[in-house]
Amino acid sequence: MSLEFRDRALGKKVVRLIHSLMLDDAVRIMHVCGTHEQTITKHGLRTLLPLNLELLSGPGCPVCVTSTKDIDEAIFLAKSGATLVTYGDMMRVPGSDMSLAEAKADGADVKVAYSVNDAVRMASNAKNDVVFFGIGFETTAPSNAAAIFNKPPENFSILISHKLVPPAMDALVGDGDVNFDGLIAPGHVSTIIGTRPYERFAGMGMPVVVTGFEPLDVLFAILMILKQMRKGRSEVENEYARVVTEQGNRKAQELMDEVFDVADAYWRGIGEIANSGLAIKPKFCQFDAREKYDIDVGEVQDLPLGCSCGLILTAKATPEECELFGKTCTPENPYGPCMVGAEGTCHNWWKYGRYGVE
Ligand code: SF4
Repeated sequence: MSLEFRDRALGKKVVRLIHSLMLDDAVRIMHVCGTHEQTITKHGLRTLLPLNLELLSGPGCPVCVTSTKDIDEAIFLAKSGATLVTYGDMMRVPGSDMSLAEAKADGADVKVAYSVNDAVRMASNAKNDVVFFGIGFETTAPSNAAAIFNKPPENFSILISHKLVPPAMDALVGDGDVNFDGLIAPGHVSTIIGTRPYERFAGMGMPVVVTGFEPLDVLFAILMILKQMRKGRSEVENEYARVVTEQGNRKAQELMDEVFDVADAYWRGIGEIANSGLAIKPKFCQFDAREKYDIDVGEVQDLPLGCSCGLILTAKATPEECELFGKTCTPENPYGPCMVGAEGTCHNWWKYGRYGVE
């Protein structure tokens, strides 16, 4: 296993410091970001750590936690004559009966876009209705808020499915079955919300470090958490200060407040988490697909039979503990949502191996 750092010497130094500061007892550190999991697996970071230091992967993959009901609703709209526009990663995520890719193969009008602006442009040139599937965390929510705020064409609307990360962290910290000693907070999300929302976790005795996506960023975050633990501190520290500030992006926050209300949300495999989602405010209801259309999807199936994504997303199991991992379920033929995209834990563990590329 080798380091692939641009600054290999510094990387080795940080790893040595982690080993020298490691506690005698086992330490479990959780991150809540699919890109962090990708960095960790791709670069084999787990192989560099003390054996009694465990890095856990939380519910940080937006595609994975998008509820089956929301996917079924998107498919319903695509089959009802609207053009459904979505990010590429969502295409193969299984709904109750099929994925958006399968619906498209069946004749539904599903298109892939890189941003909501592409969908607005499509609506400007379309004769039919265009619905954008607005998934993701605080990172993607501001651009959807901006699209609504800037008066898009009347034939445009958004099927909102956003999730908020701090309430999910609340649920994890309050879950007696999930034990961890420190939190690595997500870099992209923190760019928008800043570091303040994490202070409540520090107040509960949990060291928190916001970090970026280079292997060195993650190693520094681990080192900073160990230093806090050694000194009996629990604070919010910001390793990603080159991007993240204490207050975050105020303009993006104001835009979200203008367009969205905070609402309860269902996290696939986990369940409903209070105040962990967003709903479009009534004053913008003409751009809310749920207000605009009579959507009826009936009963939904949370996860495909036998898929353990709920346990994977809460770090109660590893992908290798799922009997379908690498057999029925591979990145080429994903059976469950955690195997589909680059931020899914199962996807990364299959692609790179638990301990990185051999
Ligand atoms: S390997 Fe596939 S079926 Fe198993 S938990 Fe992961 S996504 Fe679900």
